[in-house]
Amino acid sequence: MEQKLFADLVVNFRIKDKRKRKGYFFVVSGPSGVGKNTLLNYALEQVEGIYYLPSITTRSMRPGEAQGFPYFFVSRADFEWMIAQGAFLEWKQIHTGDYYGTHLPTIVYALENGYDIITDMDVLGCAEVMERFPENVVPIFIVPPNMEELRQRLTGREKDPALIARRLARVDMEMGYVDRYRHVIVNDDLERAGKELVQILEQYSQRE
Ligand code: 5GP
Repeated sequence: MEQKLFADLVVNFRIKDKRKRKGYFFVVSGPSGVGKNTLLNYALEQVEGIYYLPSITTRSMRPGEAQGFPYFFVSRADFEWMIAQGAFLEWKQIHTGDYYGTHLPTIVYALENGYDIITDMDVLGCAEVMERFPENVVPIFIVPPNMEELRQRLTGREKDPALIARRLARVDMEMGYVDRYRHVIVNDDLERAGKELVQILEQYSQRE
C-alpha cells in the first residue's frame, strides 16, 4: 500500500488566488439526483479563483469521471488507512456502504491561507463542517422543483423494493435539513439556477 497517500494537499492552489482574508468553504448539499454536480460544474466554469475540493471515495468510477474529478478513487484498505492517520475532516458511508471523506489538511491549508474552496457533501457531513469551521462555511442547498419527479427518477431504474425504500428515506432525511442552510437554490432550470449559484459564490469570493 502507498504509505504516503495524500500526505500532501489534494488541490494545487495558485498564489494569484490567495486573499488577504481567510478562505471560504462553500458546501453544496441536496438529495441524490437533484443535479448538484451539473450545477457545480456550471458555476466553476464561470467563477474564477474558487477551487473544487475533491472528496476521496471507495466507490467505483462512473463514465465521464476521472481520477481527481469529482473524486479521488481509492481502495477500501487505503481509505481505512487514511482514517487511521486522521486524514479526514469527516467521512461517511453512504448508500451502498462506500466511503466518502474530505481531506482535512487541504481544508485547513485553504482556509488559513485565504483560498476559497467548494465541494458537495451530504447533510450530515455539512453539519459537522459547519460546527468545525463556523466562520468559513457557506452552506448551499439545492432542491428539486418537484419532489414527485425526483422520487420517480430515483426509483425508475431500481427494481429491489428495499433499495428503493432506502433511497427514498434518504431523500426525505436530506430534505429535512434544508432550513439549516444559508442559501437554497431551486434547480428548475440549469441556466437560471446556475446563475443564482454564481451570484452567491461571487458575493463572498469578491470580498476583500
Ligand atoms: P455520489 O456517489 O452519487 O457521487 O455521491 C453520493 C453522496 O455522497 C452525495 O450526496 C454527495 O454529496 C456525498 N458526498 C460526497 N463526498 C462526500 C464527503 O466527503 N463527505 C460526505 N459526508 N458526503 C460526501
